[in-house]
Amino acid sequence: MTGRPVGEPTAVAEAYRRALADERLIFQRCSVCANAWLPPRDECPRCLADQWSWEQASGRATVVSWVVYHTAYHPFFADKLPYTVAVVELQEGPRLISNLVGTADVAPGIDQVVGAEFVHESEQSLVVFRHPYRTPAAPPTATAPG
Ligand SMILES: [Zn+2]
Repeated sequence: MTGRPVGEPTAVAEAYRRALADERLIFQRCSVCANAWLPPRDECPRCLADQWSWEQASGRATVVSWVVYHTAYHPFFADKLPYTVAVVELQEGPRLISNLVGTADVAPGIDQVVGAEFVHESEQSLVVFRHPYRTPAAPPTATAPG
């Protein structure tokens, strides 16, 4: 059995993965230049400052680019063909490479608004995106309208 290929287990990558396991999509924001980014890294990719903080993303994103894979370039994906890989831009600014799901029902498109979903596999959790974006359920309020 071949597992999903994963990146280097750095401290920031581990914090990101723990958040995904809790179904929270987080990103880093630079305390010096306010740049926001993913994937996790120790320094701001714009100004190289190492002063930053985590922020939680809304889960709303837009499709920047996408491609459908019909060939598995790693054995893990052999029984998952075809699948859609996309660059999405979070509402908060960071871009990440992820998968689009549900594309058999709704064809992907540039600028399509998509929402984050969390997938939990045996060894890790990851975020994927689906159209349409659905506003997260609001917490119950004390007064009901009408
Ligand atoms: Zn910076």
